[in-house]
Amino acid sequence: MAQEDIFKKLVSHCKEYGYVFQSSEIYDGLGAVYDYGQYGVELKNNIKKYWWDSMVLLHENIVGIDSAIFMHPTIWKASGHVDAFNDPLIDNKDSKKRYRADVLIEEHMAKYEDKIEKEVEKARSRFGESFDEPLFRSTNPKILEAKEKYDALHTRFAAAMQNSDLNELRQIIIDSEIACPISGTRNWTEVRQFNLMFATEMGSTSEGALKVYLRPETAQGIFVNFLNVQKTGRMRLPFGIAQIGKAFRNEIVARQFIFRMREFEQMEMQFFVQPGTELDWFEHWKNLRMKWHQALGFGESNYRFHDHEKLAHYANAAADIEYRFPFGFKEVEGIHSRTDFDLKQHQEYSGKKMQFFDPERNESYVPYVIETSIGVDRMFLQVVSASYYEEDLTKEDGTPDSRVVLRLPAFLAPVKLAVLPLVKKDGLPEISRKIIDELKFDFNCQYDEKDSIGKRYRRQDAIGTPYCITVDYQTPEDQTVTIRYRDSMEQERIPVTRLRDIIADKVNLRELLRKL
Ligand code: ATP
Repeated sequence: MAQEDIFKKLVSHCKEYGYVFQSSEIYDGLGAVYDYGQYGVELKNNIKKYWWDSMVLLHENIVGIDSAIFMHPTIWKASGHVDAFNDPLIDNKDSKKRYRADVLIEEHMAKYEDKIEKEVEKARSRFGESFDEPLFRSTNPKILEAKEKYDALHTRFAAAMQNSDLNELRQIIIDSEIACPISGTRNWTEVRQFNLMFATEMGSTSEGALKVYLRPETAQGIFVNFLNVQKTGRMRLPFGIAQIGKAFRNEIVARQFIFRMREFEQMEMQFFVQPGTELDWFEHWKNLRMKWHQALGFGESNYRFHDHEKLAHYANAAADIEYRFPFGFKEVEGIHSRTDFDLKQHQEYSGKKMQFFDPERNESYVPYVIETSIGVDRMFLQVVSASYYEEDLTKEDGTPDSRVVLRLPAFLAPVKLAVLPLVKKDGLPEISRKIIDELKFDFNCQYDEKDSIGKRYRRQDAIGTPYCITVDYQTPEDQTVTIRYRDSMEQERIPVTRLRDIIADKVNLRELLRKL
């Protein structure tokens, strides 16, 4: 099945099984805003816990905060967001559709990469064991041609972005013959800058109201609290401040479900270090964050680093961690070496000293900062994309059968255990309820007595429950139940008293954190 079709199915699966709903759906929705349903919120909370504990629990020099969404408007002037938090936009005059000029070009460049990978795959299946991939990549004429085109475009694009040269961006689109996917024409407007911050008004006095912004990132809440946390927590460099919270961006193009939203959530950590050590710390955090992703077991080859074409105004190094979504490799997380830009700006605009007194050096200075920044929603999409499987279970005698299963890592699964009485009578529901009453303090358990056992298993597979147990007529006799494992679909008979240990062993966050 084509990857786009899988993605469409995944989106409807998320809706059908209570993971993600379109916001304001009964009013036909609101663009790029989504609500999380009964299972979605559990998965989201588990992702946040995995991140939070990996930062705050595992590092004695990282602490958390929870700062307000509204902040003094001068903060956004100081941070550069008022003047420079822009995306280059371009409209197609025929379809009247609006695009991000940089994204149009990046998608065009990705086509060359796809072409190269397809050639490699074709050759791999043709040559089998004897395939020499590096040799093939460095000599095959089709690959060399695609690579040459890619490199030329890449150099031109990087320079245009670096210089914020809007005319050149447009020219690249024209020269590359990029057409609007809707109208198919190349009838483009000029490229313009568009500020992504939402503004609103606070209070109303005779002098008027204060224009405030909905924060477009959580990071600034950390910077402006740097001194508060450093002093009250008696923190010494290097140390970090972590925060999870909502952010808002008036995205020009909002596509691909929860990949790009106008209201979303971020998990950000700012790590304050001695000037001069920042590039070592940058490498450290790049590697640690990659490990955090890969510990989930979705396959190392599905991740890669991507170094930025254009460094943001505040950065001296930046890399993204990209995941292979059904629609291609895309950013999930950014790691940025932000220098002392933010603290220095706040020092200048607020007039307060944003410095650390280093007792070893016996001097005060503005620390440098490494930031790790990941979107909760984008991570959510990564997790469900990686976990969604359609399995053909056709029997040996040819009877067709299939299932959709979310192979969620056990810790992340919204429901850990489903307890299913074989029948709705003869005391089996009561025994089932008793088991839940025992285990509900440890895990999210679900009771289900409707439909056949087979159908109930399928329902739990579809929401990603790692364990189901069936209570049958043997249970009152010998206090055993059948446990069924989601991924292997294997079943075994175990005593009720062992349930907690078996499940706790696998669903515990400790197992994941130990891999870091
Ligand atoms: P992009 O290039 O995709 O617009 P960005 O480089 O502007 O992203 P950052 O400002 O570095 O993103 O934000 C850090 C993280 O926040 C991103 O890696 C992503 O996971 C998440 N994020 C950013 N914008 C959105 C959005 N509109 N919807 C959902 N998540 C987002």
